[in-house]
Amino acid sequence: MTTVLDRRARLLGPQMTTFYREPVHVARGEGAFLWDTDGRKYLDCYNNVPHVGHCHPRVVDAICQQAATLNTHTRYVHDMILDYGDALTAKFGSDLESMVMVCSGSEANDVALRMAQAMTGKTGIIGTDNTYHGNTTAVSQLNSSKVPVGGYQDHVRQVPAPDNLEPVGGTREGQAEAFAKGVEQAVAELEANGHGVSALIVCPYFANEGFPTLEAGFLHRAIDVVRKAGGLIIADEVQPGFGRIGTHWWGHEKLGFTPDIVTLGKPMGNGHPVAAVVTRQDVLACFQDAFKYFNTFGGNPVSAAAAMAVLSVIEDENLVENARDTGAYAVGLLEELAKRHDVIADVRGSGLFFGAELWRDGKPATDVCSAMVDEMRDRGVLLHSVGRYSNTLKVRPPCVFNRENADQLAEVMDEALGAVT
Ligand code: PMP
Repeated sequence: MTTVLDRRARLLGPQMTTFYREPVHVARGEGAFLWDTDGRKYLDCYNNVPHVGHCHPRVVDAICQQAATLNTHTRYVHDMILDYGDALTAKFGSDLESMVMVCSGSEANDVALRMAQAMTGKTGIIGTDNTYHGNTTAVSQLNSSKVPVGGYQDHVRQVPAPDNLEPVGGTREGQAEAFAKGVEQAVAELEANGHGVSALIVCPYFANEGFPTLEAGFLHRAIDVVRKAGGLIIADEVQPGFGRIGTHWWGHEKLGFTPDIVTLGKPMGNGHPVAAVVTRQDVLACFQDAFKYFNTFGGNPVSAAAAMAVLSVIEDENLVENARDTGAYAVGLLEELAKRHDVIADVRGSGLFFGAELWRDGKPATDVCSAMVDEMRDRGVLLHSVGRYSNTLKVRPPCVFNRENADQLAEVMDEALGAVT
């Protein structure tokens, strides 16, 4: 293992992140499971990229068949991207009926920001103060964990992100109002400094922020503030999208609003690098007029075939319903654990995106959380942490996760909590 880590550090750089004290050297995957190079099996409770399960045979087959028939850049006319576009946009019950296909969530958000700037003629962007939206130069300006080289630019404002245990404004009931106040202040600052507001960009599940429990309508006031100032709303669905949250296909549906622009990524191709921006025809027309955008690989026939297979599998295997039912069952198991382990301060989530926030002695138990992540890995269950203090165990498995998998997760979490606390 040391040799491969040395080689990785030499080739990919010493900062290239690996999870876990003892990184997992993976060899293969199937469904909700991974195997390492020693043949040890792990339950993958973290990986949202293989959305319909690792190496799903229908996705593998779709990729292989299309690769064996034709793959090319996207200036040729090809049915696959159109078939996919029809199938995807049918999942949005609104006038979100056009799309731009790209290769990563970062690119999707980069395009979304440019669409908003083209539509509004303004440059200000509002995000939250505890988030991540990707790695392009423009999008990095929104990331809160690492200050961009040269600092944050004047067109960016970060407003306090919602939270369950430390709500914005001090109370859960007043949080929507307090969040909107933050947005109002950001709008006023951007107007005063001449940028104006082009967009509010949020993950409608606030996934990187720690997935707080929010009522439908939570964002309504903030959205009103932005729209009144002439800005657009971008929903970054890279994490909650494609049915993971169980109750709905999209996070914005759960919160009860219609964005102007939606960005998609990670789960879309089950690991194949395909992503998209879905928007209205007027937004797309304005963007294309302003930028003449072209993406060599975005929506190439193989990527579109992979994405199409993912959509079909979600439908045919009822994975949204599975996310809802198995997620509710698993949250119930974690709530049982919370009764026996004082360190669990909050259990929350929707569908197959849930977790437990750890506090000890009135403080976020970041160390316990980090020890838990390693302890569970050593016991064959992979998950990770999230939240402002990295004190929330985050569970976000492939959507084929079943009750037996949830039982294993809870048993191992119980044992690991016993071992580390
Ligand atoms: N948006 C969100 C909410 C994300 O969590 C991420 C990646 N973690 C991205 C965008 C960027 O996606 P990608 O890594 O595919 O560029």
